[in-house]
Amino acid sequence: MKITDVTVERYAWPRPQPISNGKYTYVDVSLNLVHIQTDEGVTGVGWGGGTASGQGSDLTTTLIDYFKPILVGEDPFNYRRIWANMWLPKLVGRRGLSTRVISAIDIALWDLMGKIVDKPVYKLLGGYRDRIPAYIAGGYYEEGKGLRELAQEMEENLLLGAKAIKMKIGGVPINQDVERVRVVRETIGPDVKLLVDANNAYVAHEAIEIARKMEKYEPFWFEEPVAPDDYRGHGRVARATSIPIATGENEYTRYGFRDLIDHDAAAIFNADAQILGGLTEFMQVAALAAAQDLLIAPHGAQEVHIHAVCAISNGLILEFYRETVDPLRMQIFEEPMKLDAEGYVAAPDRPGLGITPNYELLERYRLGG
Ligand SMILES: [Mg+2]
Repeated sequence: MKITDVTVERYAWPRPQPISNGKYTYVDVSLNLVHIQTDEGVTGVGWGGGTASGQGSDLTTTLIDYFKPILVGEDPFNYRRIWANMWLPKLVGRRGLSTRVISAIDIALWDLMGKIVDKPVYKLLGGYRDRIPAYIAGGYYEEGKGLRELAQEMEENLLLGAKAIKMKIGGVPINQDVERVRVVRETIGPDVKLLVDANNAYVAHEAIEIARKMEKYEPFWFEEPVAPDDYRGHGRVARATSIPIATGENEYTRYGFRDLIDHDAAAIFNADAQILGGLTEFMQVAALAAAQDLLIAPHGAQEVHIHAVCAISNGLILEFYRETVDPLRMQIFEEPMKLDAEGYVAAPDRPGLGITPNYELLERYRLGG
């Protein structure tokens, strides 16, 4: 079997109103769907996103065209060679958008391989578990959203089965955020896990201040306290608080995670296969972390990461987006994922990633030509 073509379709849709974290505001949601065709008619689907529409969008198409000659004519099962050949040309960069595009291609290769051998991707990667606890991500800042509305969102999450939830901090003065954390802890009770995420909003001494003020509310983790490149700052925060530090959603390849490990930056890595280099590289990052008994709680796209986290021994918990993060989240794929009554998500037993994009719906939001 040989790869015959690699294409990308770009889509973006608006949110009802912008949502903000500690550092950024998001007006819409974007999706770049990568299709890998073969001479036997099997097609692999992968996707990336994570940038607002327009940002890097034409560059994504350009990069797909740039990588395409590396893939055409290859056997998809040579995924490691394909990865190395895509990543080697340092002209287009070793991190950033080019690695995100490599990620989407690599994820499509795994979907393709799963479809060829009729197995779900997590079994191909090495099955470790069939289900994993999940947390519902949210708790963003929005116009008109006060403490009461924040509490209502968390109550909805509990009704959906959540046994763990995440909220944003870093967007308002520290004492106001501590008050938000208090209200959420009181809303969810003592037994539901409360995760806080600053999205790089602080410098180290600010992160240490809020960490100490939040400790009595027992956060399960404190995510991205400082800038992704501030490895020493992560380490300083980690040493100054009893709250476990989580980071890594903005980190790339095994080399980036090696640097985080070298600085004792975090106890938990939010590795994201759509960013760091795909599922192939995710498995190497997970192995590197396992050698230090560090845990992996993947960031983003539950439809991809359910396979990643079910294939590793050091998986902790799955991030789960609902329509508060993406209004079309339960509609863009034909098989929407759900939390069960215990707050777990089960890995699909369908071949490949086990997802079918809802092309009819997506067509309304297509970008470019
Ligand atoms: Mg985050």
